[in-house]
Amino acid sequence: DEDPRIDGIKTKIRVVPNFPKPGIMFQDITTLLLDPKAFKDTVDLFVERYKGKNISVVAGIEARGFIFGPPIALAIGAKFVPLRKPKKLPGEVISEEYTLEYGSDRLEMHVGAVNKGERALVVDDLIATGGTLCAAMNLLERAGSEIVECACLIELPELKGRDRLHGKPLYVLVEYH
Ligand code: AMP
Repeated sequence: DEDPRIDGIKTKIRVVPNFPKPGIMFQDITTLLLDPKAFKDTVDLFVERYKGKNISVVAGIEARGFIFGPPIALAIGAKFVPLRKPKKLPGEVISEEYTLEYGSDRLEMHVGAVNKGERALVVDDLIATGGTLCAAMNLLERAGSEIVECACLIELPELKGRDRLHGKPLYVLVEYH
């Protein structure tokens, strides 16, 4: 009962072993973007799921959440809020640190970008450990928004990132084992 479009999407994601370092199977979505049908199918699947759900915020995580978030936001009539790496946003920000395999990183959001009670969708290309999405959710919840769901193209289920999402649902198109 999987949507027939998902198979086409899967075949367009290129897996690059040992990038950016040994042992990582990098899921490259740039090859999907080169195929207008697969790119459109990807956006459409999310739009069909989220239209009419009273979502007023699509928050995209830098950088690949900036590719898929905006077309979804436009199609469902929501605003787009960029969640950025440190020191990119010029206005007043709130920030959330998260740990990486080596060291840590931070996501920032503009104060005033979302209002209390707004219903938000969080978008990224891939969930691995879930640390990035967790930081994104913290930002939105601190601003008083209600997270409806997190949406990614790809999940690496072995890493159990899903368990770090505050009990909120995660929707993915493709699992990579
Ligand atoms: P995590 O915080 O561990 O869930 O990592 C998710 C973030 O890192 C996303 O923004 C992904 O784009 C990126 N990422 C992690 N692992 C991979 C991978 N194997 N292939 C492509 N991107 C990845």
